Amino acid sequence: MSTATARKKQSGRVVRPLKIRKNDTVEVIAGKDRGKRGRVVQTIPRENRVVVEGINLVTRHQKARPTTSRATPQTQTGRVVKPAPLHVSKVMLVCPRCNQRTRIAISFTTDGKRVRTCKKCKEYIDSV
Ligand SMILES: [Zn+2]
Repeated sequence: MSTATARKKQSGRVVRPLKIRKNDTVEVIAGKDRGKRGRVVQTIPRENRVVVEGINLVTRHQKARPTTSRATPQTQTGRVVKPAPLHVSKVMLVCPRCNQRTRIAISFTTDGKRVRTCKKCKEYIDSV
């Protein structure tokens, strides 16, 4: 992430960087996967959504049909199980230090680096 400030997209909507980042461990607090933990494999800041390994799995049924468009030939057929994006408000970050799900504070190190801090144990979540 290059900048911490909010950026404006062409639509005029302000897109803020998510507090949850790729490879974070999160716990699901709402929905059918409540209580489960998983690793974040993708973040979608524009939609405030994240994709978590093994969470919110959906089965897509893909038919083997003759390729109508030459650009995207279908290689996978049958039932494909994959995680679907879910809203960031449905997950909480799991602190790597105290192993609890926690809210995040932003603080600054003595040399001015911006780091995420656990609200529970007050330890830095990001490596300094
Ligand atoms: Zn903590």
